[in-house]
Amino acid sequence: PHKTRVTVVGSGNWGSVAAKLIASNTLRLSSFHDEVRMWVFEETLPSGEKLTDAINRNNENVKYLPGIKLGKNVVADPDLENAVNGANMLVFVTPHQFMEGICRRLVGKVKADVEAISLIKGMEVKMEGPCMISTLISQQLGINCCVLMGANIANEIAVEKFSEATVGYRENKEIAQKWVQLFSTSYFIVTPIQDVEGVELCGTLKNVVAIAAGFVDGLEMGNNTKAAIMRIGLREMKAFSKMLFSSVKDTTFFESCGVADLITTCLGGRNRKVAEAFARSGGKRSFDELEAEMLQGQKLQGVSTAKEVYEVLSHRGWLDFFPLFATVHEICIGTLPPSAIVEHSERTPKI
Ligand code: NAD
Ligand code: 13P
Repeated sequence: PHKTRVTVVGSGNWGSVAAKLIASNTLRLSSFHDEVRMWVFEETLPSGEKLTDAINRNNENVKYLPGIKLGKNVVADPDLENAVNGANMLVFVTPHQFMEGICRRLVGKVKADVEAISLIKGMEVKMEGPCMISTLISQQLGINCCVLMGANIANEIAVEKFSEATVGYRENKEIAQKWVQLFSTSYFIVTPIQDVEGVELCGTLKNVVAIAAGFVDGLEMGNNTKAAIMRIGLREMKAFSKMLFSSVKDTTFFESCGVADLITTCLGGRNRKVAEAFARSGGKRSFDELEAEMLQGQKLQGVSTAKEVYEVLSHRGWLDFFPLFATVHEICIGTLPPSAIVEHSERTPKI
């Protein structure tokens, strides 16, 4: 009988953990082909070895997830076209800024009936308006695309600490159930909900709030202030999502993808960490410089997302309604100092 083949497009910190989760399940479930292919954006390590060769030799992503065995059935492949060839299920998990280029390269290369899921937190802003990454994938490749978001700091899931996640689907619950089956383990509990836009916007927008939380940490303003910023941030996440898509459900914000992801990212995420360093430098060091120094090749999503959200807000005349989102961007580009975060975000929106 025909077995389902899975390919993971992306092999960063979360991409590698996603491959590990999936590979443990394809071995266990007879309806899946054991092998999980993982596309690697090729690079040369300081040792001179190619990253792909190092992953396949050690069964470990020595750069983005050192110390964790991925499972022997994970096969790294630097050739994008070859990696997706014959796949029935595609898992997209790269930093969002690379997805337009990746989609362009995949046009005509994937099976017409392939199912996709995006684990990517971010959006693109085009002339016509904002475009979520799952929509970009759907439109460019002419395929269905679900999303998986949640309180999922990759390094914690890598060592099998318990967490939850949310799958957002559009219409087909059976497909959502198949994704749930592919990702679920005893320590990773996945719940499907019918609200793709809501789930994806939660995952995307909380990165902007995490930057604000990092500023508060850098300024040593304390837990109450940080909680206030998280509350205002959650309020703006909900308002923005519902103003963009009237279909977004209130209950989505109480799922793992909503309040739980917001909390974990504001406590322990990379966006928070780099924003703290930015504030400690008084805004004198750039995010690009700090990202390169602190994350060793891993990428921040919050700074570019703040810019993308700001573009949407200014195009639509919504800036006054979203003081926290707007202020984060203005601090990132240096028009406001980090200390503006609380006073400016506290301006009550006129909605
Ligand atoms: P990462 O930040 O760890 O790694 C960066 C990746 O980008 C590397 O695989 C690198 O090879 C690749 N890359 C660099 N330049 C590239 C290019 N020009 N084209 C294509 N790829 C390039 O990646 P990640 O943590 O796996 O993040 C992917 C997505 O998952 C993001 O949207 C992120 O928000 C989301 N996410 C991350 C976590 C986490 O804890 N790391 C958790 C949940 C969601
Ligand atoms: P950071 O990218 O800020 O580390 O957030 C990770 C995340 O999305 C956790 O769910």
